Amino acid sequence: MNKFLPHITYVDEAFAKEIPTNPLAFLRQLTGLTIFDVKGVDKTRTRVITTLIHGNEPSGMIALHQWLLAKVIPAVNIRFVICNPEAANLLPEFSHRYLHAAQDLNRFFDLKKESDSGIHRRAKQIMDAVSEVNPEAIIDLHNTSGSSPAFGVSISDSDKVLDLISLFTNKVILTGLNVGAIMEQDFSAPIVTIECGGATELFSHQIAIDGINRFTNREVIFDHHAAQVDIHRFPCRVELKQDVTLGFGDYALLTADITVRTDIEKLNNQLTAAGELIGWYNKNNELPLTAKDEQGAEQLCNLLTLQNGCIYTKQSLQLFMATTKLDIANNDCLFYATIESSFFHDKS
Ligand SMILES: [Zn+2]
Repeated sequence: MNKFLPHITYVDEAFAKEIPTNPLAFLRQLTGLTIFDVKGVDKTRTRVITTLIHGNEPSGMIALHQWLLAKVIPAVNIRFVICNPEAANLLPEFSHRYLHAAQDLNRFFDLKKESDSGIHRRAKQIMDAVSEVNPEAIIDLHNTSGSSPAFGVSISDSDKVLDLISLFTNKVILTGLNVGAIMEQDFSAPIVTIECGGATELFSHQIAIDGINRFTNREVIFDHHAAQVDIHRFPCRVELKQDVTLGFGDYALLTADITVRTDIEKLNNQLTAAGELIGWYNKNNELPLTAKDEQGAEQLCNLLTLQNGCIYTKQSLQLFMATTKLDIANNDCLFYATIESSFFHDKS
């Protein structure tokens, strides 16, 4: 069985000249939790970037590799924490989200639920690696499963958090859920997760590269760009009910209970107006979906409506993380949605 290796590898800038130019060859050198420390012009401050918590989300790792090859001297000390290379190294590389099936490292950072399992130990090692340098800011880089523009995810809408997000994107989803993710933890410094966009899209890697350059090169990062960031609040998580067969198609499939349009990922890119067709369901009058808000209240009737076997949006929505990957849509969720009517915003 694959294991999280207990050792931690520390690397400093002296190793930069030994870094292979091929990103896969670079990944293969990483045999466990790996920490890159690069000294900055100002050695009194440190910023941290964590990445590869999910082994199939390469943008942060690819950007780090480029950054190390460029031999930049950053404005302040930078620590990169490569969190889960063991999963990324499972063949074929960058295809496994977890080291062990269904064990999501990004659900284990709440250390109050401590145990001695390998995955808990890894989460603690990562938390310690971040805390021990007293960072002034922390960025956690990910990719989405489906095609998507970049966006930030945070539990806080403080100006510092929004300033950090603005280095990468102008969009953020604010969440109140506590699932044990690293960005929910208290490091006495602003922390955000950046979803750089789809894992297989070149554009996502460029978002990570450009954002890391701004994050590492600027002497001041808390520079009041917060107002540029577009905030989406109160995400609802839209999931299939149990034992429902999902299909993706351009019409109602005979082989599925519910069919979602094949180009659903396009709706990650822009606001979706009320009345947009999402898919088809014609077994009865009750959609086999749930859409819980952060308090666990059912919101499906506010998001989607069923008319003559067609599923439509009930009001203006922003979809996030919509994907046509069947395993993710079945086992995780179809998408997240925030209600975007001006009435709703005025109330918030
Ligand atoms: Zn991720």
